[in-house]
Amino acid sequence: MNCLVCRKPFAIPWSPATLLKRDWVCPDCAGLLTPLISGCPRCGHPGADGVTCDDCVRWLALGLDLTVRSLYAYDEAGTNWLHRYKFGGDVVLVNQMRPILRSLRERGVVYVPIPLSEERLRTRRFNQADLLARMIGPTERVLVKSEVSSQRELGKEERRHRPNPFAIHKASRCEKIVLVDDVYTTGTTLHQAAFTLKKAGYEEVSAVCLFRTLNKSKMRPI
Ligand SMILES: [Zn+2]
Ligand SMILES: [Zn+2]
Repeated sequence: MNCLVCRKPFAIPWSPATLLKRDWVCPDCAGLLTPLISGCPRCGHPGADGVTCDDCVRWLALGLDLTVRSLYAYDEAGTNWLHRYKFGGDVVLVNQMRPILRSLRERGVVYVPIPLSEERLRTRRFNQADLLARMIGPTERVLVKSEVSSQRELGKEERRHRPNPFAIHKASRCEKIVLVDDVYTTGTTLHQAAFTLKKAGYEEVSAVCLFRTLNKSKMRPI
């Protein structure tokens, strides 16, 4: 068997569970990602356990109250993993995340992936957040995203006033929504999406994110 991540062959001792196993990652690669198990209770950013980080304090000051469960550090190993999955289109890698994502599943919750704009979906051909959300539980396409210029193309002033690209696509009957995204960088995306949902009347909104950046992020107003 070859490892999904490093492609090197490795042996798997036989057991009945082996037949059902789909996350073929060798022990070396399985230990590369850094789980975020303590730190900021609102976003998982490493720091003093139980202390809200500066980013979250600033979001709260804007009246935006969103708790994000971040699973792994977006360090070098996290970046490599996401790069292969998201930009390399190596979607089979997502099976590695199946056990941890499935363990987050709750009853009475609908999982809403952060949508890509139609234009981006055409070029990437899959929505990386959608596959992650499906591994957790039932998903619905509640949000739609309109195309905005990439942040790199925007000037500083425009960036600060970046409009919220999200709108309601199809309302859900479920009152409890968990947003799902691949990486939390500035937090702007998830906070904008949560803002749209809350404005539409959804009061219980939280989020799950596969990776959380470790450097100090620069947030932007909603
Ligand atoms: Zn490997
Ligand atoms: Zn935080």
